[in-house]
Amino acid sequence: MPDNNLKTLFIASDHGGFALKEFIKANLAESTLLKDLGTYSEESVDYPDFAHLLAGQVAAHPGTSGILICGTGIGMSITANRHRNIRAALVHDQFTARMAKEHNNANIIVLGGRVLEPVAALKLVQTWLECKYENGRHQRRLDLIENRNLNSTRDITAPLNQVDPEISRIITQETEREESKLIMIASENCVSQAVFEAQGSVLTNKYAEGYPGKRYYGGCQFVDQAEQLAIDRACALFGAEHANVQPLSGSSANMAVYFSVLQPGDKILGMNLAHGGHLTHGAPVSFSGKFYQSSYYGVNRQSEKLDYDEIEEIALRERPKLIVVGASSYSRTLDFPRFRAIADKIGAMMMVDIAHIAGLVVAGAHPSPVPYADFVTTTTHKTLRGPRGGMILCRQQYAAKIDKAIFPGLQGGPLMHTIAGKAVAFKEATSPEFIATQKQTVVNAAFLADKLQKKGLRIVSGGTDNHLFLIDLTDLPVNGKGAEAALDRAGITINKNGIPFDPRTPTDPSGIRIGTPIASTRGMREAEMEIVADSIFAVLNHPEKSSVIEETRATIRNLCSRFPVYSYLL
Ligand code: PLP
Repeated sequence: MPDNNLKTLFIASDHGGFALKEFIKANLAESTLLKDLGTYSEESVDYPDFAHLLAGQVAAHPGTSGILICGTGIGMSITANRHRNIRAALVHDQFTARMAKEHNNANIIVLGGRVLEPVAALKLVQTWLECKYENGRHQRRLDLIENRNLNSTRDITAPLNQVDPEISRIITQETEREESKLIMIASENCVSQAVFEAQGSVLTNKYAEGYPGKRYYGGCQFVDQAEQLAIDRACALFGAEHANVQPLSGSSANMAVYFSVLQPGDKILGMNLAHGGHLTHGAPVSFSGKFYQSSYYGVNRQSEKLDYDEIEEIALRERPKLIVVGASSYSRTLDFPRFRAIADKIGAMMMVDIAHIAGLVVAGAHPSPVPYADFVTTTTHKTLRGPRGGMILCRQQYAAKIDKAIFPGLQGGPLMHTIAGKAVAFKEATSPEFIATQKQTVVNAAFLADKLQKKGLRIVSGGTDNHLFLIDLTDLPVNGKGAEAALDRAGITINKNGIPFDPRTPTDPSGIRIGTPIASTRGMREAEMEIVADSIFAVLNHPEKSSVIEETRATIRNLCSRFPVYSYLL
């Protein structure tokens, strides 16, 4: 991180400018805080890489400046000027070098290594450094370059790194973390630039209480189209009769289903949180356990799989009004026809929460609950690879009740930027790449679980049919909490997780949960899962051995660098 007070001067070149870069470095005044960003030899490289690198640094650190050199200087200046607030001037004589600073306040000077004599080029740099920006009438023109509104004192175009360097730095750090670590949290994924753009758009400004064509605000003609697209795409993607794309999260989608058809005190039956269910499926600490009378089903102690005969027994005994199907950490295929049959036996409604497996369902890598369930809820940000949020699919007969439960029942203005992001994600989910990635996610999880099992680790239920699995650490020298910390130090981010019938507490459990959505989105396949299996096994067996942690971290960093995801943002 450069010290702005010392006004760092970055320098970078391609192979065509390398010799001149070295000459300038050797001859510039020693007081200059020069930072060389490469290239470091005459071996052929691509000039945009170095122009982007340097321009990104200058744009991110106001007060700094830079020198770029390629054969003619043309390619470097074209590339650098793509960055906001960069004014890269290609100069070739004393007059243009002086004007570049006095009139244009160029924060990057660009030179042609095959055009200029070294001594002449050095003098151009010195002139540009010594001259002062004249300000005055020129500032208005510089503002116009950035399309600033000269009638407002508010500079709406100022970039985040200028307005709020602290948040900007945090975002950069998070980007670096997501890029350099292998994230195997089963509920996370990496959204595309297209989703980012929809989310970071003017749609965030718009109030649109209501639904397309029936709003409580004017000016909704465009957000109506965005929401209708999201609805239509969701229905087509899942083969559903009705979609509500407004839920703020998976939890609020579940809440809306309950509010739509249940009264406080009604009975619900859901999967036990301790066996892999979700908080909102009736857990006592959640609204779902407080407002409704909840009972639970779990997995069989021996098989660690759902025992449908037992679920039927519980349903017949408890007679819930709604059966909730779905889980946060259950690795086996859910038998929707069987759940439907159980619900029908007692005249119950059936809700399936596919928050985790929605992407798999789209790709046919897990059976769809839509033909069986009265309601299907999901998050949009897990395997579905969209923005954070929720969605409800339902049969037409429940459409009005669901829509009323969301608005005005539970929410006010919908997040239109997020709804647009959902629409983009639903479109992306029809692509061959998405379908193939979802299928590979399942292949990768099965392969990884199998490798770890063959090495001697105990995988809960003996394997996986979906994107995740649990490892029981009982016989290893580390518990869930320690494993989460050790693996993170080694570059693999997972989460501690209870295992069924866990003798330990939820905050200090016996297991960890591993998921393959992000690895698969990055393009990793079985060969990479082999490396990951060796790494996880080594760390779980030697969580305190620094040589193992260091070695694994280097392996994982190298692996991630071969499968970049957000390097273009750094
Ligand atoms: N349902 C299931 C099965 C989940 O796993 C989750 C989140 O992990 C949710 C619902 C809740 O989603 P959100 O965190 O968006 O409220």
